[in-house]
Amino acid sequence: MDHDTRIDLKNLTLEELTVFLAGMGKERFRASQLMRWMYSRLVNDFDAMSDLSKALRAELHQRARISCLGSEVTEDSRDGTRKYLFRLEDGQTIETVRIPMEDNRVTLCISTQVGCALGCVFCHTGSFGLVRNLTPGEIVNQVCAALADGPISNIVLMGMGEPLHNLDNVVKALQILYLPEGLDFSPRKVTLSTAGLVPEMLELGQRIRVNLAVSLNATTDEVRNQLMPVNRRYPLAQLMEVCRNYPLQPRQRITFEYILIRGVNDSDQDARRLVKLLHGIKAKVNLIPFNEHSASPFKAPTGDRVTRFQGYLLDRGMVAIRRASKGQDISAACGQLKGKRDPLPQQQDAGEDAVHDNHPPEKGTCK
Ligand code: SF4
Repeated sequence: MDHDTRIDLKNLTLEELTVFLAGMGKERFRASQLMRWMYSRLVNDFDAMSDLSKALRAELHQRARISCLGSEVTEDSRDGTRKYLFRLEDGQTIETVRIPMEDNRVTLCISTQVGCALGCVFCHTGSFGLVRNLTPGEIVNQVCAALADGPISNIVLMGMGEPLHNLDNVVKALQILYLPEGLDFSPRKVTLSTAGLVPEMLELGQRIRVNLAVSLNATTDEVRNQLMPVNRRYPLAQLMEVCRNYPLQPRQRITFEYILIRGVNDSDQDARRLVKLLHGIKAKVNLIPFNEHSASPFKAPTGDRVTRFQGYLLDRGMVAIRRASKGQDISAACGQLKGKRDPLPQQQDAGEDAVHDNHPPEKGTCK
């Protein structure tokens, strides 16, 4: 099949779309019009865009296309968590997770890369290595596809990949997510999680507004070097320094994700060191008991340990929230569903054990 060389409009910000349309001799307002069709109404077919002239629709057909994602597999957990596996146009797969929260809110966890280069040892995705960056369109299309299952209140860039390793495409995707005539998410509702790429954190703060989460997971360089190899390049002192200087809105805090692993980082001394490390930073700590899976030797902490760790932080006036691991009965850890379906990222051979098995979408069609 010939490769489709038409430009994918989902990869363009409003400004870029305006320039593209100007190249076709079209007025500026057409860009907003198209954005509204693609994102407010989630329409992917030029022919359905009734306020565009027939001639313009025909011209668009020739030069452009609108990509979308159809889920190949979904797994539903008893707690309402839904995990999607999307197959991309080149056959690679990514995961997206829809997580129901209290008060009927829904958080969507999206991916920014196929695989990841950073190799955190507790992470299933890290074991695949990096295959490639996602395009802006592939990032926002995860949101568009999940919206078909109902409204989304918050978005976290916390799925497969290190978002700051794909900074340019992630910034474009955020611009599209925030666009009033598009998906219209407030930057307050969107959180980007990084393993701690210090120079890119500085750049992110200068380029766009987004809540920042830092995957911390250790209180000494020794332990963090082992868990997260990125720490050898950007050790804790540098990471804390950039957090201390990160531009925050008046009521905004940086979230520190701390996966508690039995006997590795869950001691009283760790809790003490954590309080010291975060001193002077407007911080919120998410304590996440490790979610055991077959590919990892790590164990979940005991319930008592978690309570004691959290209690220590709370007693020192810190905001420390215990996060339940959602979707325990499905492939909940990031990368697990992909691992089940694509034992190697390059392989497209599908397993048979998923809960719902939708047919792969025809090229150009979405569910
Ligand atoms: S935890 Fe995040 S940064 Fe680390 S390997 Fe996994 S996806 Fe990459």
